Amino acid sequence: MPAAVELSSVSTGIRALFCMLTPNESSFEKVEDVPQYVQQATPFFIGLMVLELVVGVLKTGGSVVKIGDGLTSISAGMVSRLPMLFMRGCELAGYVYVWDRYRLVELPWDSAWTWWLTFLGVDFCYYWVHRFAHEAAILWAAHQVHHSSEYYNLTTALRQSLTQQFASWIFYLPMALAVPPSIFAVHIQLNLLYQFWIHTELITDLGPLEWVFNTPKHHRVHHGRNLYCIDKNYGGILIIWDRLFGTFALETDKVVYGLVYPIKTFEILYIQFHYYLYLWKKSKIYKNISNKLLTFLNGPSWKPGKPRLGDHKGNPKVTGKEVPHVPSWPLHLQVYVVLHFLLVLRTYHDLFENKMVLSQLTILGMTGYVLLTLTSMGFIIDQRPTAAVLEMLRCVVMVTMHRYSYMKPLLPALAVPTEAFVSLSLLYWGLQSFSQLHGIKKKAG
Ligand SMILES: [Zn+2]
Ligand SMILES: [Zn+2]
Repeated sequence: MPAAVELSSVSTGIRALFCMLTPNESSFEKVEDVPQYVQQATPFFIGLMVLELVVGVLKTGGSVVKIGDGLTSISAGMVSRLPMLFMRGCELAGYVYVWDRYRLVELPWDSAWTWWLTFLGVDFCYYWVHRFAHEAAILWAAHQVHHSSEYYNLTTALRQSLTQQFASWIFYLPMALAVPPSIFAVHIQLNLLYQFWIHTELITDLGPLEWVFNTPKHHRVHHGRNLYCIDKNYGGILIIWDRLFGTFALETDKVVYGLVYPIKTFEILYIQFHYYLYLWKKSKIYKNISNKLLTFLNGPSWKPGKPRLGDHKGNPKVTGKEVPHVPSWPLHLQVYVVLHFLLVLRTYHDLFENKMVLSQLTILGMTGYVLLTLTSMGFIIDQRPTAAVLEMLRCVVMVTMHRYSYMKPLLPALAVPTEAFVSLSLLYWGLQSFSQLHGIKKKAG
């Protein structure tokens, strides 16, 4: 029987990121025995992001990551995993249900054949999940989050949708008729992990690997808003599906990243939900019920009288000279946001570590705090007029949490400076809010 592999060794961790685990070390009889590969990969994500930053500076002379954009991407990754505090992953719960009741055959869990077949099956299903996520507006409303950065680096990989997981599991259900849930649970994670490293501009061309595998070069095209990039290169690990089904495009012109209409905001919940609101408003324009429905089911660019996916001729022309939206904000606020982001990252980490011993109410409260913090950081980066008041209120919550030990310093040795920093933050934003309100009153007077 294969030994349970924890990602404790660096070698295993790195290999898991590139889907290079052997069937022998990653086949399990029970779902409960499957390691939380994605959760355990966090240190490797951080390590590779730092490496990309350093190599980027050496290669280009500048930073490949902008603070506002990078933090927003990591925040989206954090938000997307919050539902896991309350339930087992959607993909797995639905899968186990179908397997338990409707399986037709039972492929042996300890066979390398099953492992490789599942590898192919998950990647094939992912291609279709991803293609539908671009071709059906209601699914695009979820998936657009991943495409909302105008940059392309490893942080972009973490910019994930909160809502996509509630629909994508359906596409994998046919596999539950034959593939044991434990093997599926391994591959659904390895498939996701593989897609981390391909989000970089620093790797240009990988020669013959480009024929078969999804690579940074191919996935850059997928993130482009140039006309030749739209609805192309959906593959997860393998690019062969795109070559087979006619959605492959080779990188040619300089890729300009992001949505066709960039959202130009760092507000985390807006990024997650704005497109649902847009679709709802769009559907209300049409009187005819079928047009209303097709607004959600056809492609995001669809309009009555146009083909299913609409046409992209009306898209803003991409010249290659587009400049991403980067707010100019004072250095002291940048330092402030980074420090508070690290603090909330610690709280977030502790929340996942202790979820089994915390009450539902505590988990709910701490989830609310994480969301409030990430929202408030977005308001500060966006430099919204209401940022001062929101951040002051958040600081009140933070001071309370700190007092009742729901919040820990990054390191035990930093307990005193953290306490001082938390209190000073409240004082600072209290004064900011006061002077802002005073200013408004004076103006009104
Ligand atoms: Zn996509
Ligand atoms: Zn991507």
